[in-house]
Amino acid sequence: MPTIFTKIINREIPADIVYEDDQALAFRDINSQAPTHVLVIPKKEIASLSELEDGDAALMGHLFVVVRKVAADLGLENGYRAVINCGTDGGQTVDHIHIHVLGGRSLSWPPG
Ligand code: 5GP
Repeated sequence: MPTIFTKIINREIPADIVYEDDQALAFRDINSQAPTHVLVIPKKEIASLSELEDGDAALMGHLFVVVRKVAADLGLENGYRAVINCGTDGGQTVDHIHIHVLGGRSLSWPPG
């Protein structure tokens, strides 16, 4: 099912895009939880971690390489957190898999 993130991929709604290639897009979260808060998504519509297929392994690996590039480009040299929320208990609200990249401040642990 297409979500609002498909509209961002297709430029049907605006977003502050910080990285794009043929497989992935990264853009700033509209409700930032840290000085830097970016979402890294595949262009392929995958609803959640629970929906991953064996054939998605290379794509998911690519997304984490994009996380590293985006974090470096945005100056997160002190570190950052990469988070994937999955399902209702995981706090997922958009059913298009995405990696949150949070940085620019010290982050507490454990999350709520
Ligand atoms: P989740 O809760 O599913 O892990 O994360 C979804 C994230 O998407 C939230 O942090 C939310 O702020 C962000 N988000 C939802 N709608 C939009 C939107 O239209 N544009 C942008 N840039 N971020 C969005």
